[in-house]
Amino acid sequence: MTQIHDNEEMTHQKITVIPGDGIGPEVVNAALQVLEAANVPLTYEFCEAGASVFLKGDPTGVPQATVDSIRQTRIALKGPLETPVGYGEKSANVTLRKQFETFANTRPVTNLPGIITPFSDRNIDLVVVRENVEDLYAGIEYMETPDVAQGLKLMSRQGCEKIIRFAFETARALNKKSVHCATKANIMKLTEGLMKRTFESVNDEYPDIEGHHIIIDNCAHQLVIRPELFDIIVTSNMNGDILSDLTSGLVGGLGVAASSNIGYNAAIFEAVHGSAPDIAGKNLANPTALISASIIMLRHLELFNEATSIEKALYTTLESGQLTGDLAKSNPALGTKEFTNQVIGNLGKSPTQYTSRPYAPVQIKKTLPKYSNTPHKRILAGIDVYFQSQAQAKEIEKIVQSTIVSGPFTLDCIANRGSCVHINDTSDTHPIDLYRIRLLTNDPDAETQIASFLQAFGKIIHWTHLEKLHQFESSKFKSEKGFTSIAGNH
Ligand code: NAD
Repeated sequence: MTQIHDNEEMTHQKITVIPGDGIGPEVVNAALQVLEAANVPLTYEFCEAGASVFLKGDPTGVPQATVDSIRQTRIALKGPLETPVGYGEKSANVTLRKQFETFANTRPVTNLPGIITPFSDRNIDLVVVRENVEDLYAGIEYMETPDVAQGLKLMSRQGCEKIIRFAFETARALNKKSVHCATKANIMKLTEGLMKRTFESVNDEYPDIEGHHIIIDNCAHQLVIRPELFDIIVTSNMNGDILSDLTSGLVGGLGVAASSNIGYNAAIFEAVHGSAPDIAGKNLANPTALISASIIMLRHLELFNEATSIEKALYTTLESGQLTGDLAKSNPALGTKEFTNQVIGNLGKSPTQYTSRPYAPVQIKKTLPKYSNTPHKRILAGIDVYFQSQAQAKEIEKIVQSTIVSGPFTLDCIANRGSCVHINDTSDTHPIDLYRIRLLTNDPDAETQIASFLQAFGKIIHWTHLEKLHQFESSKFKSEKGFTSIAGNH
């Protein structure tokens, strides 16, 4: 492993380096060797995170010393971190992303010289811009009954606005003509719909860029059929996670895909791949992804010449067909160290085909988006109450009617997994033991009577949680003039 160089000249920028788990130390070391051979003016502070930290009993996987280092350097180059599965620990990656609010995850992919895939001649050159801190990755989950788990998909207008602006700015910085916003707004009209509506609104500020909305499943399909269609794809956290593994696959797989996590105060650069425990410590890992992550980092630091020099050396190596085992088709495979030596040996050379392109810094507006119009009007239109029951819907209906008889609420629906079950024929469905009732009201004093309703209802049925249904007045967004519809589907 490369040693710490704290005593270098002041002109050298210090960055935090996290070797990580599994193949992490091998590929991080490879990237550092290339950076050093290219005389990049950086010094390194090595920090821990991941498996070794969990083993010491720290359930975050990220020690304070690592947080302090990144807070000071503002830049980290990181190897993959293992996430223990199902033991209550958080992902150290998610902890880092949240700690530094690195809201923008970018995953660029391009056809690489010498790497033959079914998509080699398709002129692929796109960036997936993934929202990085919200959505299902907030990890807010509950066991509603012993047999029913529920996760909260949390998306904010502010979060959507920040990532969408970042996507448009990325398009401008890379001189790209279009941004596709990929959502599942046709089904999740409020959460994914918020991203779509925000996209349509922010798009108006970027008349020089074409904005397109695309349903996420069609986006996955089009990426395989016509990947050359896309310049920038902006999407929510979970969708982006899956889509960016797909796009990595188009150009050679996880061994070559790099990513950046960008926030207002810190940026973390890494490979898309994980710790690959199956090949760890065997000199088999492809360091291309981590070397590419360091190239993206150099551009972020505006060390454009150094970035281009290393990129040319990497592409020259790939073009020569001297590849690691995950990619080698005909020539004997190189080990991690041997491949790294080839890249170092190719510094100063250019591949036969190299498209130089403009790399302007992405302009991040470091002011938080404002909240929607205030004061806005808020009207309680009803409540949704979730409860555990194995009774039939008709039986539940009788109980509900008996508890609301003298109050402000009327029964709108008894739902199971989002479908109304008390009026429809449900003989072919398999209800689970978590139901929801939707009670509506137009009584302005209904709010004060929620507690007494719950008290009466709770004596008969075990309720688990309640959602108030509000109508908000908002005129900021095109499709939200007047009042929005009541939150939630049946
Ligand atoms: P993985 O990416 O580690 O491995 C998937 C497959 O790809 C394996 O066959 C592996 O050998 C291969 N592979 C990955 N990187 C390679 C490389 N550079 N060169 C050659 N082959 C490579 O995915 P996984 O097995 O699902 O995850 C292993 C661990 O990594 C898990 O604990 C997971 O949580 C963690 N992980 C971390 C990150 C991160 O730190 N950003 C990302 C993904 C997964």
